[in-house]
Amino acid sequence: MTRKLPIIAVATAPGKAGVGVVRISGQNLKPIIKALFQRDLIPRQATLRSLLNANGQLIDQLVAIYFVAPASFTGEDVLELQCHGGPQLLELVMRRCLELGKEDGLEIAEPGEFTLRAFLNNKVDLAQAEAIADLIDAQSEAAVRGAARSLQGAFSDDINDLVEEITQLRILVESTLDFPEEEIEFLENAQARERLAAVKTKLQTLRDGAKQGKILRDGIQLVLAGAPNVGKSSLLNRLAGEEVAIVTPIAGTTRDRVKESIQIDGVPMHIIDTAGLRQTSDEVEAKGIERTWEAIRLADLVIFLTAPNAEKESDDLRAQILEALPPKCPVLELVNKADLLDKEPSQIKMGCLLISAKTGQGVDALKQKILETVGWNGPQEGAIVARRRHLDCLERASEHIARSEQFAANGNNSLELFAEELFLAQNYLGQITGKLLPDDLLGKIFSQFCIGK
Ligand code: GDP
Ligand code: ZN
Repeated sequence: MTRKLPIIAVATAPGKAGVGVVRISGQNLKPIIKALFQRDLIPRQATLRSLLNANGQLIDQLVAIYFVAPASFTGEDVLELQCHGGPQLLELVMRRCLELGKEDGLEIAEPGEFTLRAFLNNKVDLAQAEAIADLIDAQSEAAVRGAARSLQGAFSDDINDLVEEITQLRILVESTLDFPEEEIEFLENAQARERLAAVKTKLQTLRDGAKQGKILRDGIQLVLAGAPNVGKSSLLNRLAGEEVAIVTPIAGTTRDRVKESIQIDGVPMHIIDTAGLRQTSDEVEAKGIERTWEAIRLADLVIFLTAPNAEKESDDLRAQILEALPPKCPVLELVNKADLLDKEPSQIKMGCLLISAKTGQGVDALKQKILETVGWNGPQEGAIVARRRHLDCLERASEHIARSEQFAANGNNSLELFAEELFLAQNYLGQITGKLLPDDLLGKIFSQFCIGK
């Protein structure tokens, strides 16, 4: 993935648009620029140019901007061609550039290769590179702002500060290791325990922020489960505010998952309406049910719906679902069809939220309860976006800090282990910004980018 030759791609989205941008990055683009326009370009100056085909016919009049290495997005020479945004036209521009750049080894870029080069040339760290993709993919205003902040380095700065503190502490410990007779006093003199406690607090704050950041970025996978006919599709429609699922009084109508993305308080919610979970001999329905179990196994939150007169079949199902859930996945139990209940409210189990998908009763309270259950703290000043990968690294780092704390408590003779745990914690934090990465990870991260990024 780390080619040195120049690369080219259309940087704008496919389809027709007013403007389409073709981007080229390479170590020395002067020869290509000369070949394209028969003359040099003044760096960082938008210049109107004509691009001609091999027969001297006009392909497009475009605005060319040339950034000289290292002051560019990728850290290499970059040429941006702002053309008219037609797919055929951009195809022709690309082809012409590839023709004229052939001698210089110009090739079509792989997905994420521009950003990869920016990372390899230290223009951005890995968390920032990921934030570029997250900014482009952001699904809400809050997510846009969080990604912009991550891209500016807000998250990386906190990580780097923490790594620095851990490093300082570790250096101190390691320098003491050569003088065993002084180990006993070391912890006191260096205020190691206090410093470790400070590290731990900071790490916890970072984890809390990253957890919110992951919700902002990915949203919540919310599964609506329950016996047939309890009103799952109706609730999905109510939450989505439109008819997205088929509602009928015949049990087993929802044959397949219906997925709808909505926002509650700026948090993307991917709601999956599940096929009624029941024994069936119908092949199509059975497939839907199998997929439902799949969705349940990947859920962040399960809403388990029951309705009056469906308690019996619901009890078996509840037990089955609890078994299939990922560890720590919360379950919200709801009783639907509250509007039918005015006569016998005593039948309702304590602690269940009572709603009516039909009248909308209790739905606002449900939305608040959902946010509360997934641990969303509301839009925060200074929020960042984060990924599962970041959370995993932070969790690992926390484990090692906790272990180092134990060794510190043991005092004497544990200093070597204390230092080792600090080192491991530091490594996991370093993976977030990409300073210390397992080999295969880089390719995996950048291959998820689109072409042209
Ligand atoms: P699903 O199989 O769980 O998806 O259930 P549906 O959403 O298809 O609803 C089954 C039936 O219950 C339909 O006739 C709905 O109109 C009805 N229903 C759903 N929610 C309510 C409610 O809150 N009150 C009443 N009275 N009927 C409801
Ligand atoms: Zn349904």
